[in-house]
Amino acid sequence: MAIESFNPYTGRVLRRFPAFSWSKTERILGQSARAARTWPRTTFAERARLMHRAADLLRERQDELARLMALEMGKPITDGRAEVQKCALTCDYYADHAEEFMRDEDVKSAARHSFIAYEPLGVVLAVMPWNFPFWQVIRFAAPALMAGNVGLLKHASNVPQCALALERIFHDAGFPAATFRTLLIGSDLVEKLIEDDRVKAVTLTGSELAGSKVAATAGAQIKKTVLELGGSDPFVVLADADLTLAATTAAQARMINSGQSCIAAKRFIVHKSIVKPFISQLKTHLLALRTGDPLDEATQYGPLARPDLADELTQQVEDSVRAGAKVELYGGQSKPGTALFRPTIISGVRPGQRAYEEELFGPVAIVMEAKDDEDAIRLANDSRFGLGASVWTTDVRRGEAVARRLEAGAVFVNSMVKSSPEIPFGGVKKSGYGRELSYLGLREFLNQKSIWIG
Ligand code: NDP
Repeated sequence: MAIESFNPYTGRVLRRFPAFSWSKTERILGQSARAARTWPRTTFAERARLMHRAADLLRERQDELARLMALEMGKPITDGRAEVQKCALTCDYYADHAEEFMRDEDVKSAARHSFIAYEPLGVVLAVMPWNFPFWQVIRFAAPALMAGNVGLLKHASNVPQCALALERIFHDAGFPAATFRTLLIGSDLVEKLIEDDRVKAVTLTGSELAGSKVAATAGAQIKKTVLELGGSDPFVVLADADLTLAATTAAQARMINSGQSCIAAKRFIVHKSIVKPFISQLKTHLLALRTGDPLDEATQYGPLARPDLADELTQQVEDSVRAGAKVELYGGQSKPGTALFRPTIISGVRPGQRAYEEELFGPVAIVMEAKDDEDAIRLANDSRFGLGASVWTTDVRRGEAVARRLEAGAVFVNSMVKSSPEIPFGGVKKSGYGRELSYLGLREFLNQKSIWIG
C-alpha cells in the first residue's frame, strides 16, 4: 500500500511513499522502547532546551511548513503559518511548565508522609488526522516528550510530507532520534502495534469509527487511550446577543480550516426573533470570502483535503434536503470528484436527517430556530457529540448559566471555540474522552503514583 501526497487544489499526485513493512516498523518500535528507558533520566532543563530549540525551528521554517500544508491538504498559506506559530508557542509552553506539572504533590492522609509522584509511561502511539497536520501532532508530542515519554507517529496517509517534516524538526532540535519517530504506515498496522507490549498507550484524533476501533484494540490490551473525535458544536445566539458580532464570528467559526475542524461551529441555534437577520448577515459574510490557490496569500478558504471528503459532504447535504431541510445558500461542489466545496447554509434540519445526526466536516452551516433559552439548550444538547459550544448574549451571567448546562468539553461565552496550550481540550459523549493541553493533557500519559511513607 502506498502513502500518497496528493494536491487537492490541482488534483495531482505530488509524491508516493512505499509504506513501511511490519519488520521495519517493529525495528523502529524496538529503538523507541530502548529510548523510553533512557530518555526519562534526562533532566527537565535538558529536555526544555531541546523543546525551545524545536519551537525556534518551527518559527524559522514556518513558510516551508505552511507551503507543505497548502500542497498536501489545501490549507491557505496564511492559516498554515498561524498553525505553525501556535505549535511553536505550545512547545515553549511545555518547555516552561512541564517540571511544575510533574512536581510531587503532597496529600494529607494517615501516613507520616504521602504524596503523588508523576512518572512517564514509555512509548505512546499517536494516530493523527490531516486537518491540522502540525498542530494535532505537536499538542501531543510537546507534553509527551517533556514528560519523558517517547512518541511514535502514525499520521494520516495523505500528509506524509508533513509527517516527515515533524520528525525532522525534533531530530534537528537535538532530540535523540528514537524519542520521536514517524511511521509511514497505513491504518492496517495500527492494531498490531497496539497489541505489542512495548506500546504503552495510544492517542487518536479523527473519526468516531477510527476511534472506536483503536480503543477496542487498546481496551483488549488494557492500555490507556485518549480519543479526540468529531463534534457538531452548537453556536447558541440568545435573543439579547450582539447580532452583528455573532454573525461575523459565526462565519469565521464555521470556516476554520475551510470548515474542516472538530471545533468549528456547525449548528447555529438562534432565537426566533433574530433568525432571519442572522441568516442574511451570515450569508453576506460567507459570500464575501475568497477562495483560490491555497498558496496565494489572498485565499481565505481552500479546497477540502480530499475529493472523497467533498463527495461525502455533498451526499450528506443532499440526503438532508431530500428529507426536508431547506437550502438558504447553495455553494457546494461544482462537480463530483472535485475537492472545492463552497459555503452552504441549510435550515429546517430535524431529527432523523443526516445533517441533524452526523458531523458535517466542511463549510455547511446548519441554522436552527429556538423559541427561548430552554429550547436553545435542549437543541444544543440533542446531539451525539459534545466537544465545544459557544453562547452569545449581552448578559454575561445569563451566558454563564447556559454554559453550565451545555453538554460539552468546553463552552465559550461571546467568543468562538478555540484551543490554546493552557486550556484543557477534549470532549464528552461521542466526541471522545481524556484531555489534551494544559497540565491535564500532560498527565494523561503518566503513572500517577501514590507513595505512602508509614
Ligand atoms: P479517519 O478517522 O479515518 O483518520 C484519522 C486517522 O486515523 C488517520 O491517521 C487514519 O489513517 C487513522 N485510521 C483510520 N481508520 C483507522 C483504523 N481502523 N485503525 C487505526 N487507525 C485508523 O478520518 P478521515 O480522514 O477518513 O476523515 C473522515 C471523517 O473523520 C471526517 O469527515 C471527520 O468527520 C472526521 N475527522 C475528525 C477529525 C477531528 O479533528 N476530530 C480529523 C479528521 C477527520 P489513514 O489516513 O491511513 O486511514
